[in-house]
Amino acid sequence: MKNEMTLAFDSISENEGFARVAVAAFVTQLNPTLEEVADIKTAVSEAVTNAIIHGYQGEVHTVVVRVRLSEQMVELWVSDEGTGIADVKQAMEPLYTSRPELERSGMGFMFMEAFMDQVEVQSTPGLGTTVYMKKKIWQGEAEQGA
Ligand code: ATP
Ligand code: MG
Repeated sequence: MKNEMTLAFDSISENEGFARVAVAAFVTQLNPTLEEVADIKTAVSEAVTNAIIHGYQGEVHTVVVRVRLSEQMVELWVSDEGTGIADVKQAMEPLYTSRPELERSGMGFMFMEAFMDQVEVQSTPGLGTTVYMKKKIWQGEAEQGA
């Protein structure tokens, strides 16, 4: 089974909750555990919040979330066309934040990496950022006796 969807929405904080719930609803068809759903929701939430806060820095533009389900794999792309990241390696370091004055703690990428199997960041300063994440859902497979 292969199934894909794309959401495009304004970069306002209210839509962080929308994106999280919409992705969770879509992923449900793979029969995930509650914990797996919670992990994916957290990862989506962190990536979307980053696009809103860091990518667009409070300006309202479009955030795109693409989700692809294939067999028991969830793949996610969270994209903005905002500021981009000059040093991705540094940005992904635990506890690194460029915005300590906003009381950010630099935990976003830590959570994404902890809760997903794979996290890749592609970013070009001035052009934007895409965060790719992947997670295998085990529950459905177990139920099918595979
Ligand atoms: P927290 O997530 O704990 O609130 P944070 O957002 O600063 O803090 P991370 O989510 O780990 O921490 O992100 C680290 C840094 O990477 C950010 O401070 C920011 O500089 C940069 N960053 C992350 N996502 C983007 C993005 N979409 N566009 C531009 N910069 C980004
Ligand atoms: Mg963050």
